[in-house]
Amino acid sequence: MKIDTESFSYHVVFSAKRRSIALQVRQGHLVVRAPLATNLADIKRVVAKQRLWVVKHLQQSKALVNKPDYLELGLLPLQNVKLPLIFKRMTKSSIISVDGVLNIAVSNRVKPDRFNAKVIALLQDWYKQQAFIWFSERVNYWHKEMKVQPGQIVIGNWKTRWGYCKQNCELGFNWRLMMAPDWVADYVVVHELAHLIHLNHSSDFWSLVSDYYPQMEEAKNWLKRYQHTLDL
Ligand SMILES: [Zn+2]
Repeated sequence: MKIDTESFSYHVVFSAKRRSIALQVRQGHLVVRAPLATNLADIKRVVAKQRLWVVKHLQQSKALVNKPDYLELGLLPLQNVKLPLIFKRMTKSSIISVDGVLNIAVSNRVKPDRFNAKVIALLQDWYKQQAFIWFSERVNYWHKEMKVQPGQIVIGNWKTRWGYCKQNCELGFNWRLMMAPDWVADYVVVHELAHLIHLNHSSDFWSLVSDYYPQMEEAKNWLKRYQHTLDL
């Protein structure tokens, strides 16, 4: 059964096995599961009560569904530009950038059903190389400004963090930040370097970051809003 509200619609699925009403958000849609004998007014009351939760989760879920398919689009974000992609079959797999166009060659030995997976693996390696060059340069710039001594730089592939700073001063940065505008990635550099002074997220830490990086809040908001687009 489909029910419409002012801000969203949902389906109700009745089940003899259920003992209570449950709300689920999947793939941008709300599904309400209810025991067989539940009357509609009760269901509507539960949904109305959870309205804010539903709207928030629908937005998050829709954002995930809406992640751009960069391979399909043939355009890949690299910081502030979008690079056109050209795919080829060659004897060896490689990625070469020619005049701002990314030429992606996939080895003839890769089976057709593995083509996209191979492209994604190649692109991830390529992003990691770009990230290492760029983050090394930015750490070099900011550590002089901030008068801190960083350790080695590691580029990583994490789903849930943008960077880290270890007690031994090692700094980690997520390659996905190369898909974001440079001023957003630069905030993460200042953030991690600031941990060399405060190894916590105290108010002293945040005021240090915003002293060096006044766009801190904008960068944090950008990451919250667009993080789902920073993936292949
Ligand atoms: Zn931190």
